[in-house]
Amino acid sequence: MKAHKGHIGFVESDLQSKGSKRILSHDLYGAIPVRQIGKGFTCESDYKPKLPALAIRANVGGQRVEGSRAVTTWEPVYGIPRYFYTDLKIRCVKCGTTGAFTIQDQKRWYEEFRLPTYVEMNKCSDCRRAFQAQKRLAIAVAFVKDNPIDALAWLEEAKRRLETFKLKNTGGLDKAMACLRKASKLNPELSDVIYWEGVLYERRLKPKKALGRYRSFLEKTKNSRSKLVADTKENIARLMSKEMDRKDE
Ligand SMILES: [Zn+2]
Repeated sequence: MKAHKGHIGFVESDLQSKGSKRILSHDLYGAIPVRQIGKGFTCESDYKPKLPALAIRANVGGQRVEGSRAVTTWEPVYGIPRYFYTDLKIRCVKCGTTGAFTIQDQKRWYEEFRLPTYVEMNKCSDCRRAFQAQKRLAIAVAFVKDNPIDALAWLEEAKRRLETFKLKNTGGLDKAMACLRKASKLNPELSDVIYWEGVLYERRLKPKKALGRYRSFLEKTKNSRSKLVADTKENIARLMSKEMDRKDE
């Protein structure tokens, strides 16, 4: 019988009997003892396979051990723990760059964030961030659809569009501008819109217009201690110093 590979999960027919016990033969972990609970199966969490060089033992009790639904079978699928972590090389499925899935990252993923153990790292950190931003944008767009007269919903969509644009040059700056216009039409008092217009002009490489929006935001806003005010001052300082650089050339 071939040894099981990876962490996607196992089905009952993958198991072998060894006396009264069941085992799952695994290419990384050897013979994993498997316990039957009711009709289901679970890999023993206190099993201690031999550690490869430079690997560290994982805390299996802290993991969310689940099989992936991507396994196409009519049988129930059971999870395989991550018994140890060792530095892994990955190749990003989106952009093709190679990177490391480090021991520390794995510990964080499976024990702190408690991602299911079948989840594999398959994107680099840039692509992962862009992917998450894309998901947040989709949620914002759906929210606007359900709440078309909510100015804050439109503002949120604009912010998410600006975020995805920053990360991956997608998201649509024209659409972001349309969202900001809609937000300020629905609520002319919403001064945050002016700040985000400034950000948008910066993305469009229009520093003078951006500066104008930032300054007008500072004039209109009353809460001078808000985070946005601090950001605005920082952005103004940055744009001004760029302007000075240009004059020096
Ligand atoms: Zn990538």
